Amino acid sequence: MLATRLLGRGRGVIFAGTELVSINERPPAAAVSRDGKLAEMGAANAVQDASLGEEIVRRINELGAISEDPDKLTRIYLSKELRTAADLILVWMREAGMSAHLDAIGNVCGRFEAERPGAPCLMLGSHYDTVRDAGKWDGPLGVITAISCVADLNRRGKRLPFAIEVVGFADEEGVRFASTLLGSRAVAGTFDESVLNTRDRDGVSMREALVQFGLDPDHIGAAARARRELLAYIELHIEQGPVLEAQNLPVGVVTAIAGATRLAARLTGMAGHAGTVPMALRRDALAGAAECIGAIEQFCRTDESGLVGTVGYIQARPGATNVIPGEVSFTIDMRAPTDMHRKRAVADIVRQIEAIAKRRQLALQLDVTHENRTAPCAPWLRDQIARAIDGEGLSVFELPSGAGHDGMAMIDIADVGMIFVRCRGGVSHHPDEHVELMDADLGARVLLRVIENFRPREDRAGAI
Ligand SMILES: [Zn+2]
Repeated sequence: MLATRLLGRGRGVIFAGTELVSINERPPAAAVSRDGKLAEMGAANAVQDASLGEEIVRRINELGAISEDPDKLTRIYLSKELRTAADLILVWMREAGMSAHLDAIGNVCGRFEAERPGAPCLMLGSHYDTVRDAGKWDGPLGVITAISCVADLNRRGKRLPFAIEVVGFADEEGVRFASTLLGSRAVAGTFDESVLNTRDRDGVSMREALVQFGLDPDHIGAAARARRELLAYIELHIEQGPVLEAQNLPVGVVTAIAGATRLAARLTGMAGHAGTVPMALRRDALAGAAECIGAIEQFCRTDESGLVGTVGYIQARPGATNVIPGEVSFTIDMRAPTDMHRKRAVADIVRQIEAIAKRRQLALQLDVTHENRTAPCAPWLRDQIARAIDGEGLSVFELPSGAGHDGMAMIDIADVGMIFVRCRGGVSHHPDEHVELMDADLGARVLLRVIENFRPREDRAGAI
């Protein structure tokens, strides 16, 4: 077992040295060697060590069984099943010693009171809605792990100078009303009321769905929290990518939730007969799009900053075997760990696409359809998470999040930190999504260490 000490940061591996920094009176829960395997521990210890993980996995399975569809997991915002799931989470929260309620947008909120009632809180959370045909871990792992950590404190009769609040956000995925982060935006006070009038694919408006769920659409503002009530927001989530697995590490520190720019491109050339128009006279929109897609991939591949670009949708018209495509639409999704990087990359790619279109005599229409700024994780929280990982005898590894998370909304009222837990094959938004019990357990132990050693940002130290 080799513990490492944090020396610097940036994307990638950041450490050297072998000094074990113990910051918690409890001994490291599990020893993990460089190859990520659990080292031999005493049998009694091992039984006790996995206890948080076992409870977490049991609850993941229990929650994962609450679905609109018996054959696959689908639990979308304001559905009957979401309500059933909320009621179950409320029970778990109360069992863990928290006062718990459903807020005005359907978030499940629990509070574990501080030594001094009414003190500001360290907020932990994630979401409990899912995509269609989802995995069980994306979202619920963060909610369930946080509850298990509080339950552990409660069993030991431990209170802290700050409260711990756990939030299960009701909508992160945005499946139903085509608008994401509805739960966390309501808490951050940035909920866009115009979404209330959008309708799902069955024609039900969000306003109507809220009433059916037992909530009052005119009181969503009541879910908003003030900056002074929060010391920080920390989320534990599965990585949803293959990086930790490739590093043989069960957990990682997130540096930033990458911003994204989405564009819609349309190239228009001239449709024609596949047999009669000579190659030199063609204005083939699909061949032009193919060149653009190749250029996007090449550009992102040669960038070392963590830039990723994806063309995930394309449509060619008229779309027949024997017709030269006259018009092609495609989308571009660009993400990078910093906004500056992303903006520069988007500008470069737009220039390249314009040049390709010009050379091929294709008309180009390019629109930005969505833009999300990067949510950087606060350095002081990254440090505290890194120390907790180190305290568990694990190597500290930092990585950006390419996927969006509730922290993107919470950053408007609190500094944000994130812990990633390895998931098998990096598979997510898929029924094969899987986390090993030991990794779930280690994630919980890291989070528990973060909680027990948590210190507010220096300028807020007087708040507790
Ligand atoms: Zn998620």
